[in-house]
Amino acid sequence: MRSPAGITIRNDAHGEGRFGASRKTRTHIGVDLDTLPKSYVYAPIDCTVKRIGTCYVGDPRFKLIELHGKCQIHRILYVNPNVIAGAHLSEGDVIGRSLDLRDKYGPAMVPHIHWEIIVMGIENRHIPASSNYISSVYVNPLELLGVI
Ligand SMILES: [Zn+2]
Repeated sequence: MRSPAGITIRNDAHGEGRFGASRKTRTHIGVDLDTLPKSYVYAPIDCTVKRIGTCYVGDPRFKLIELHGKCQIHRILYVNPNVIAGAHLSEGDVIGRSLDLRDKYGPAMVPHIHWEIIVMGIENRHIPASSNYISSVYVNPLELLGVI
């Protein structure tokens, strides 16, 4: 696995970009990586592009890319994609260029991308062996990368 865009975590007047940071009514379930606008963004793993979506209702400028690997789902936000749904990618392939979040939030926001990972697994504690109960959890991308 590789990072889509470096490993520098955002920390600005709008908040902290670390995994688990408070977001008032919720918890930050990924990491925000400082990224100069229009930087290349890379596929973290071998994967298929599941979908291209939008980050904000009513604002089509900011896109998200959802990538499905063998047992992980990666979502990368604030990217201008150069891939389409259904494309098969190798780790390190360019998936697009980063956008400039100052266009939405103003100059105090440090431009960044958001990266979150869901690991799909089979949870079999307390479950009969015949059951096929699937659990999925968000994990800290930097932990999976081995940098923290
Ligand atoms: Zn974020």
